[in-house]
Amino acid sequence: MNTIFRCVGILVICFALQIPTASATLEIEVDITCPLCGAESSYPKRFSQFRTGMRLDLKPLGPKGPPPLPVCPSCHFVIYEENLPEAEKQIFSKYVRSEDYQRLSKDWPSYYLLAKLFEQVKGEDVSIANAYLKASWQVEDDPERCRHCLHKSLEYLDRYLIYPGTYNEEWPTLQALAGELERRLGEFVRAKNRFMMLSRMPQFQGNILEEIVRFQLKLIEAKDKEPHALFEMEQSDK
Ligand SMILES: [Zn+2]
Repeated sequence: MNTIFRCVGILVICFALQIPTASATLEIEVDITCPLCGAESSYPKRFSQFRTGMRLDLKPLGPKGPPPLPVCPSCHFVIYEENLPEAEKQIFSKYVRSEDYQRLSKDWPSYYLLAKLFEQVKGEDVSIANAYLKASWQVEDDPERCRHCLHKSLEYLDRYLIYPGTYNEEWPTLQALAGELERRLGEFVRAKNRFMMLSRMPQFQGNILEEIVRFQLKLIEAKDKEPHALFEMEQSDK
């Protein structure tokens, strides 16, 4: 597996992003060449992002959505990397030319296409989960599509979390995210069981994850499926 999948797909692994940033959003138009068809284009590469907080699903709050991801104007490949290994290039070339992908590229945003591309080369489950998660932010005004993306993200996240090798420093945050996706999908029993299980673990005691679990259990009790920001936790404690 090419390490770029991990780099592009890496999840924001801590909830420290709830703290607002003073830096402004900085995007600079950069030239980019499609590794599949050679078409040249440009896109606004984001170097920093102003944010006012974070949501329980890790979405940074602020005027901007997820970082722009360039899509080739000619073949519609998502250019997450300009230098691809030959083997991956061949798989992508075939898939991108397919009727299926070309149809998807007309209807779906960049992170959804990225997830589909990663699936083709059997990318890491956590990277695919992350792409679907970001796609859910891109389609928030369409409940049905948003739900589809959340469902796919949870599917891959659960697949990732099941392996003992994933019990690392990201594990608590990814577990909290999986519970959040369950709640958003209205799977309240599953979500409650997960958060109850997590609440008994040392990683979820005496820190922000403990507060998140407490807040999540309140939301689950209220059968609340809506997105919520982390700063709402303080208000709910008052
Ligand atoms: Zn292209």
